[in-house]
Amino acid sequence: MSSEILEILDSEADHDKTEVGNYFVANYPPFAYWDAETAATVPALLEKPATPDVPLGVYFHIPFCRKRCHFCYFRVYTDKNADQIKGYLDAGIEEFKIYADSPLIKGRKPKFVYFGGGTPSYLSVSQLQSLTSRMKELLPWDEAEEVTFECEPGTLTEQKLAALREIGVTRLSLGVENFDSHILEINGRAHRTAEIYRAYSYARSIGFPQINIDLISGMVEETDENWRENVRKTIELMPDSVTIYQMEVPYNTGIYKEMKAEGKLVAPVADWHTKRGWVDYAFKELEKVGYSISSGYTAVLDPKKTKFVYRDQLWAGADLIGLGVASFSHIAGTHFQNLAEFTQYLEAIERHELPVSRAMTTTVEERMIRELILQMKLGRVSQEYFSQKFGVNIGERFQLQWNDLKAKGLLSEEGDWLTLSRDALLKVDTLLHAFFLDHHKGTRYT
Ligand code: SF4
Repeated sequence: MSSEILEILDSEADHDKTEVGNYFVANYPPFAYWDAETAATVPALLEKPATPDVPLGVYFHIPFCRKRCHFCYFRVYTDKNADQIKGYLDAGIEEFKIYADSPLIKGRKPKFVYFGGGTPSYLSVSQLQSLTSRMKELLPWDEAEEVTFECEPGTLTEQKLAALREIGVTRLSLGVENFDSHILEINGRAHRTAEIYRAYSYARSIGFPQINIDLISGMVEETDENWRENVRKTIELMPDSVTIYQMEVPYNTGIYKEMKAEGKLVAPVADWHTKRGWVDYAFKELEKVGYSISSGYTAVLDPKKTKFVYRDQLWAGADLIGLGVASFSHIAGTHFQNLAEFTQYLEAIERHELPVSRAMTTTVEERMIRELILQMKLGRVSQEYFSQKFGVNIGERFQLQWNDLKAKGLLSEEGDWLTLSRDALLKVDTLLHAFFLDHHKGTRYT
């Protein structure tokens, strides 16, 4: 008897081309199992007594961008004026008030805060100052170990970066994606090479505790030569961490729309084998100059100093309040997502309602699998962690999967730890499906 792992590995060659669909496994169970009926139970969930021992995080979604990148699948708007942006930020604060006043959340202090998007750095200095001071009044950040802020290099000025540091941002994440202006342009990015260097040098001079650079392996027109240059230029800058995503082409991207219009099934980007090879090359080059690989997507320069609290807490079951249009929350074992349409979101807040559109209350077993698959993305899992937290011996529970991975040289076991090989880590998102409950397999991940 064998697990689905072998089927996945056997069919790799048939699925090597980049076709439309999601590759990245962001959560579990899949979104297809979240529904409106459960969304209606979220207000009652917030009436439960507080759980001060469960770490809490806050995510604020800023859905505005200068331009829509061709590969973007997020809920973003490029046409909102200052009044509309102000109205949106006010609504986000009203939403936050509902949580901050609820018995379940009241008095808890966020351990981590994350501004994502969209482009949080699209906001003006005064918008940022007003937004964050109102957030802190509702739930003070004085115990937050990390405040992350995602930035598009072309939106950063020295004054804005100084304001971000002043507000308490500790982890600045720069969406570089590629260092070549032509590749940035044909992929629809708003920024160019010169803006990357300007933003990076301002950010360094201001002294953020952590600067992360995001890259994408496999943008349209990416070549071996360009990729090597990206890696070389990243190493020249020596950021505290480097995050590399492999280009995927979900249904709601500009790239897919073009493919559909032209009747094409294969996206005009490198195949999976090549994209993985590029990440592998980058990881090896980064390791040569002292970086350590801390997940299938991340290299860090000093693992003792450079943490990623948001990722590590979320992947270990922390509660997360997701504010803003289309944001995802995970509170007391229930996953939920906000309304994904701007006007509907604002109207719900005007009615003083939680703007939740779909939700799923997980079982203990689903929470265990969720943590297992998310932690596998770190490259290794502790069996002791799962037996302590869930009373489950994951070695036995998933014996077939582990044995198949071992037989293919993709997993080793040493004491408590089950460790993925580099090859397995680079394709970890494809392997995770074999750990899903049977009835969750084969569903579309949107
Ligand atoms: S900057 Fe990010 S969020 Fe905005 S359009 Fe591009 S990929 Fe999407």
